[in-house]
Amino acid sequence: MAINWTEAQIEEVIASVIKNLNGGVAPAAKNSWDGSQYNGKRYIGVYADMNDAIDAATAGYKAVRAMSLEEREKVIAVIRDLCRKEAPTMAQLGVAETKMGRVAHKTAKHILVADKTPGTADIVAQVKTGDYGLTLTEMAPFGVVGSITPSTNPSETVICNSIGMIAAGNGVVFNPHPNAIATSNYAVDLINRASAMAGGPNVLVASVIKPTLDTAQIMYKHPNIRLLVCTGGPGVVRSVLSSGKKAIGAGAGNPPVIVDDTANIAKAGKDIIDGCSFDDNLPCIAEKEVFAFRNIADELISEMQKNGAYKITKEQAAKLADIVLVDVKNPKTGIVKKTVSRECVGRDAAVLLEKIGVRVGSDIRCIICETEFDHPFVQHELMMPILPIVRVNNIDEAIDLAVKAEHGNRHTAHMHSKNIDNLTRFARAVETTIFVKNAPSYAGIGFGGEGHTTFTIAGPTGEGLTSARSFTRYRRCVLSESFRII
Ligand code: NAD
Repeated sequence: MAINWTEAQIEEVIASVIKNLNGGVAPAAKNSWDGSQYNGKRYIGVYADMNDAIDAATAGYKAVRAMSLEEREKVIAVIRDLCRKEAPTMAQLGVAETKMGRVAHKTAKHILVADKTPGTADIVAQVKTGDYGLTLTEMAPFGVVGSITPSTNPSETVICNSIGMIAAGNGVVFNPHPNAIATSNYAVDLINRASAMAGGPNVLVASVIKPTLDTAQIMYKHPNIRLLVCTGGPGVVRSVLSSGKKAIGAGAGNPPVIVDDTANIAKAGKDIIDGCSFDDNLPCIAEKEVFAFRNIADELISEMQKNGAYKITKEQAAKLADIVLVDVKNPKTGIVKKTVSRECVGRDAAVLLEKIGVRVGSDIRCIICETEFDHPFVQHELMMPILPIVRVNNIDEAIDLAVKAEHGNRHTAHMHSKNIDNLTRFARAVETTIFVKNAPSYAGIGFGGEGHTTFTIAGPTGEGLTSARSFTRYRRCVLSESFRII
């Protein structure tokens, strides 16, 4: 016999089923999220207290230690699978929660993480044999890793770090960015669901419902945390490096681009706009300022305009600078400093242009303007699709200014040129972790370029593009007088 239920009755039944599954907690309204749930589905492995999260991650570490490499790889394979399937959900949630970036690009970033983050194959033992026998060096886990993650690539960083850290045999506890808790904790939940599906523990990695600087401090001081990995701006990198623990710091950049007069200008114009506008310029590797040879600058600007760039005047640039950079007073020192407005980071070009009274269509993805070297657009890491272009007379001037604009971060730099001497000179002078030649910036993290991907690029501490092996400690085992078979 058919039952003719009303819509309200059906919703009531669904709500009571979810409530039961949630251990008595009523489901939230659709499109609701916080650090503990998304659309009423409670996250697994996310705790109110950082100490409980560390305990759970410690249990996760013990479980990983007991797994064979094959079992770890099974968990990682399911993480990759879920990351691919749920990429659009995480991208939408990330944009909705942080109000930054673009859904299509965030989806692509998750798929990149799923496809190109190295797993256990990255851990390779070394052997030395000689007159005295055989010495084996193995890459061992640290234990529980404390990971601080940014708002700019929140779930991407959680999943990428988790794959590498689990592959290396570690447990992980996260202190995510306060502006991206729901998105980051969605990724924590995804890792734990993958673990359970692959026969691993129900809680493999952990996080907190309300991460703060205080919860980070608990993490820094807890005896179970053996390694800190920090992905973020200069303040937080400085804080982990002064924690007294072994730390990996992946900090800020301000990637310059040089375009000389041997470059394929049409390609350079398109590549630079593609890279600069990707996820509204949130990736730390994205093009932030251009130094163009004077004799090709007009052509380069015209090629950029053919590819979705909108050129503003000097006056409009000054007006926009007053909006995207705000005065912030340091409460300790009282010193007022120009700081990038959080209201503008990762916003679409059209949204930023509207703030100065310019209306454009959705085809416009980047704002360009001609400036002098000392313009704030050149000097500040804006993380929004605004690209200043400085005309230079020759390669000496280009390298000198580009190195200065990078501010010694030694993060990322780009160049479009066919002159091998110029390319080599700039690469040597700028000393960045990533140097991309004749391609959009994202080629440097394996998107249309060779090599693995990561969203934790550790320039300050030297691990470079981190992968599983970055989260290991070297251990030596010596066998004397045997096992050399030649
Ligand atoms: P952010 O610096 O605002 O915050 C990063 C994280 O640190 C957050 O979890 C925040 O709450 C926390 N935090 C901040 N100060 C802290 C402190 N003193 N102690 C403990 N925790 C603290 O970063 P964001 O705005 O999300 O990201 C943007 C910055 O991060 C940019 O500078 C960007 O270049 C950089 N970044 C670097 C990489 C890399 O791989 N090198 C990757 C992504 C982002």
